[in-house]
Amino acid sequence: DTIGRNLDRAVTAHPDREALVDVAGGRRWTYAQFGADVDRLARGLLALGVLKGDRVGIWAVNCPEWVLVQYATARIGAIMVNINPAYRVHELDYVLRQSGIEVLISSTGHKTSDYRAMVERVRGELPRLREVVFIGDPTWDALLAAAERIPEDQPAAIEATLSCDDPINIQYTSGTTGFPKGATLSHHNILNNGYFVGETVGYTEEDRICLPVPFYHCFGMVMGNLGATTHSACIVIPAPSFDPAATLRAVEQERCTSLYGVPTMFIAELGLPDFARYDLTTLRTGIMAGSPCPVEVMKRVMAEMHMAEVSICYGMTETSPVSTQTRMDDGLEHRTATVGRALPHIEVKVVDPVSGVTVPRGEPGELCTRGYSVMLGYWEEPERTAEAVDAGRWMHTGDLAVMRDDGYLAIVGRIKDMIIRGGENVYPREIEEFLYTHPKIADVQVVGVPDERYGEEILACVIPRDPADPPTLAEVEDFCADRLAHYKVPRHLRIMDGFPMTVSGKIRKVELREDFRP
Ligand code: ATP
Ligand code: MG
Repeated sequence: DTIGRNLDRAVTAHPDREALVDVAGGRRWTYAQFGADVDRLARGLLALGVLKGDRVGIWAVNCPEWVLVQYATARIGAIMVNINPAYRVHELDYVLRQSGIEVLISSTGHKTSDYRAMVERVRGELPRLREVVFIGDPTWDALLAAAERIPEDQPAAIEATLSCDDPINIQYTSGTTGFPKGATLSHHNILNNGYFVGETVGYTEEDRICLPVPFYHCFGMVMGNLGATTHSACIVIPAPSFDPAATLRAVEQERCTSLYGVPTMFIAELGLPDFARYDLTTLRTGIMAGSPCPVEVMKRVMAEMHMAEVSICYGMTETSPVSTQTRMDDGLEHRTATVGRALPHIEVKVVDPVSGVTVPRGEPGELCTRGYSVMLGYWEEPERTAEAVDAGRWMHTGDLAVMRDDGYLAIVGRIKDMIIRGGENVYPREIEEFLYTHPKIADVQVVGVPDERYGEEILACVIPRDPADPPTLAEVEDFCADRLAHYKVPRHLRIMDGFPMTVSGKIRKVELREDFRP
């Protein structure tokens, strides 16, 4: 179906249930109010002359208006373009041009990001950009006031003409490995994906989902927002950007049943000095995704955060995003050490990256996925689309995976991150999982760095549990000595207090490699 009609269903079935809560701003919406505000904003956009297929950019940190824009644009068939809130002028200019944005909705600013000043700097050179609206300023009020000029039934009338296969969203990838690519997605792509992800963790209208993950990324807007509304559940926004204490406070205050995060977010929450003080007993489930989910972290989340049913998702922006997910009826080992099995209506295969031939189960190869979830393509980049999606509509993920005999998938790492040391293939993930069990290590990333003798050598970047007592290289080597093959043992160690990160919470291994000085 279309996103707007799916929302209508929730509004009709559960008008008085809460749809959206903004904890920091102290605002809340029932489904009836949310549906009415979405329609009002849709009429405001129509009054601005936004037509089906026009690009409407949203550049803001998490706030309720972000969610309203998501549903209002979908309602009238406009293509919403999510813009990374960490961008600065240069990147903003690129995205505005690349996706041909006609109307930009932004906010006046957040922390060190003066969005208004940055928009004003690029605006003059972008003839295509007709209108800019800032949330929480008179231009936003004017947008809502303009809605009065448009008949109330107009958005629904437009909705009736939309097709599920129309593009409604351009989402840029995280830019973990290079420059972000704009994945063009349809109603069908993301509405179904949100639905199935929510279905797998058993959402109902009773669920309240705490979302500290950014909406600009598919984790927030699809698995979060659409995962919630397709099951008439409630979206809880703990803070504009990730704050571990605010997140746990929101879970407690709003009696959340589900909590999302990339692994680094859960690590930060578990590491809060007053962690034990938060009442997390309302939590039942949640989703960890976006980067490799260490077994140790999964176990702690299950045991210490009251999230016995927490689920791991694997996916990528280009596939709406989720392809595989663990289920609560999977065994404990499967739920911590694998990314589960393919979601309904999605196929997966593991191939030799060079020949494209499917490898035997148990052997690593490139993961490919196919189904309703594969993007329409990269926006106006047919050549890059053809490199990623083959003629059989298989998405080549660039990730290495192993399919076990029972069909469960384990992610080994990105092809680009694989280390080749003296002719041996080394998968950083395996070493990281092992080092997580070291008592002095809170977080660890393993990368390959240039080495004259072996081509590449292994560098472990470590965040110590106690900054005053970090592990030494000799300690790390001793710890690995009898338990890892010699060519996997780190020969360089870097003690850090944080990793370079994308806004979606992914660690930029590229930077760890580039910054290394032996
Ligand atoms: P870019 O494509 O711009 O370099 P990116 O790949 O990080 O950035 P996303 O689409 O946000 O952009 O992330 C998808 C990638 O995240 C996957 O290809 C995979 O490498 C990683 N990933 C997602 N979920 C998991 C998971 N559960 N386990 C391991 N890796 C994961
Ligand atoms: Mg990618």
